[in-house]
Amino acid sequence: MSTARAGIALGSNIGDAAANIAEAIARLEAVSIPGEPVLKASLHRTAPVNCPPDSPDFLNTVVEIAFDGTPRELLAHTQRIERELGRVPNPVRNAPRVIDVDILYLGDIVYQDEGLTLPHPRMREREFVLLPLSEIRPDMVERNR
Ligand code: ADP
Ligand code: MG
Repeated sequence: MSTARAGIALGSNIGDAAANIAEAIARLEAVSIPGEPVLKASLHRTAPVNCPPDSPDFLNTVVEIAFDGTPRELLAHTQRIERELGRVPNPVRNAPRVIDVDILYLGDIVYQDEGLTLPHPRMREREFVLLPLSEIRPDMVERNR
């Protein structure tokens, strides 16, 4: 048994971004341990950062679920959810996307392989992560600033 709190950042800037994020959250709740709290920040509208010209604004938020499994198992869920919501691979960096689901942390696990780094290496630089994260885990944002 390896239960931990998992912080997950969501972003969308194609289609009905609010609906895309709501659907992704519902699917994350479905893999959260039943009966454990799910923390949800509000939606933040943010201008695109390092994106192709004329990219639409993003909606971003952060949730925290309780997860029983390995970092790779959680990544398999987040990538499945991206696929199920219709995200298609795009070689262009930061191209508009139906949904982006990034794992910020899984408890205090430090993990690195070719496709997954925990804690997320860029979470502390991203205002669109720190702002919503501070709503649900202010302790964590204070610590990391
Ligand atoms: P970004 O999230 O930076 O906009 P992508 O969603 O296209 O870009 O993800 C690029 C790669 O980042 C994915 O293939 C995934 O394997 C990898 N990755 C590394 N660490 C993480 C993490 N903590 N959460 C999600 N993906 C991660
Ligand atoms: Mg991503």
